[in-house]
Amino acid sequence: MAQATLTIDLDAIRANWRALAHASGTAEAGAVIKANAYGLGFLPVGRQLLAEGVRKFFVAEAFEGAHARLAVGNRVDVFVFAGHMAGDTDVIRQHGLIPLLNSPEQVTRHRSTLPGHPFGIQLDTGMNRLGLEEAEWRALSAEVLAENPRLIMSHLACADEPDHPMNSAQLAAFRRMTDGTGVPRSLAATGGILLGPDYHFDVTRPGIGLYGGLPFAHATPVVRLSLPVIQIRDVAAGETVGYGNSWTAPDPARIATLAAGYADGLIRAMTGRARVFAGDTPCPLVGRVSMDMMGVDVTHLPGPPEALDILCPAQGIDALAEAAGTIGYEILTSLGHRYARDYKGGAA
Ligand SMILES: *Cc1c(COP(=O)(O)O)cnc(C)c1O
Repeated sequence: MAQATLTIDLDAIRANWRALAHASGTAEAGAVIKANAYGLGFLPVGRQLLAEGVRKFFVAEAFEGAHARLAVGNRVDVFVFAGHMAGDTDVIRQHGLIPLLNSPEQVTRHRSTLPGHPFGIQLDTGMNRLGLEEAEWRALSAEVLAENPRLIMSHLACADEPDHPMNSAQLAAFRRMTDGTGVPRSLAATGGILLGPDYHFDVTRPGIGLYGGLPFAHATPVVRLSLPVIQIRDVAAGETVGYGNSWTAPDPARIATLAAGYADGLIRAMTGRARVFAGDTPCPLVGRVSMDMMGVDVTHLPGPPEALDILCPAQGIDALAEAAGTIGYEILTSLGHRYARDYKGGAA
C-alpha cells in the first residue's frame, strides 16, 4: 500500500497537557485546539483532553467552535480568538461559543445581536495583532465590566525568547489594564507558561506544547510519520534523479522513491535539506520533492527498506522544520489529508 501512516500518540498529548498544567501552578490550564488541533484532529484530540479534565478550550474562528463542540460536548467553555465577526452570530449562539471581543465594533455587535450571551475580552498589550487598545479599553471598561466578561486575555509576541524585553513590557501593560477588575485573566500560551508564575494569572492557553513542539523543550513527541517505499532502483554515477535533474549521483547509488510529497505537507523547501530515517540511520533526500513522491539515497542501508520515517524520535517536528526553514507549528498544521491516521492510546 502506498499510503503513508501518521501515528498520533494521544497518551503523549495527555502527558504534555499534564506537564504544562503542572507548570501553570495555581492557574487553570486550558487547551488550544484551533486549526483542527494543530492538524492532529479535533475529535480524538478534543475527546482526549476533555477526558483529562480540560474545561476551557480555545479555537481561532467561530466555525471551528462548531467542530470543537462535537468533540468536547456542551459542558465546557469554548472561546473564540477572532471574537464575534459579522456572520458569526448564529454559530456562536447555536454552539454556545464564547467570543473574545477584540474591538469596539465587536463589543457593539455582540451586545446588540446576542444580549446576555457570554463573552470575553481580548486586549492588545503590544503585539498589534488582535485586541482592544489601551485607550479603547479605558473608554469601554466600566460598561463592559458591568456585563461580567468571562475572561480577559492578551497574547505575548516574544514568549519563546525568555530574555526578550517585550515580555515584561507586555506583562506590565496587561497588569495596568486589568488589575482590580476581578475578572479571570489569561496571558500565557506555551511560551508564557515557561516564563514563570508572573505570567500565569488565572488561565493558561497551551497549544504547541501539547502537540510536542518548541518552545516546550521537554515535550513528549506526539507524531510519527512513516512513508512507504514504492520502488528502489540503482543509478550509475552521473545519472540524475527527479524534476529538473537537480541531483546527479556522484557515485553509483541506490535510490528509493517514497510515497509522499508537497501535497502531503512535506514542502518543496525540504529539497536537498531534509532527511528521512531507517531507525536511527539518516538517509538524505535527493532530487526535488514532488507532489506525491520524493527520492532518498539508501545506498548505505544494509537492505531494501519497506518504509522510512520523516517524523520519528530521531527527527521531531522542530528538527524537520529547521531543515525546511520553518517552525514546528507549520510542519504540524500542514500535514496532509492523504495519510492513514493511526491514533494510539487515548481515553476511550
Ligand atoms: C495559537 C494561540 C495560542 C497557543 O499558542 P502556542 O504557542 O501554540 O502555545 C494561545 N493564544 C492565542 C491567542 C493564540 O493565537
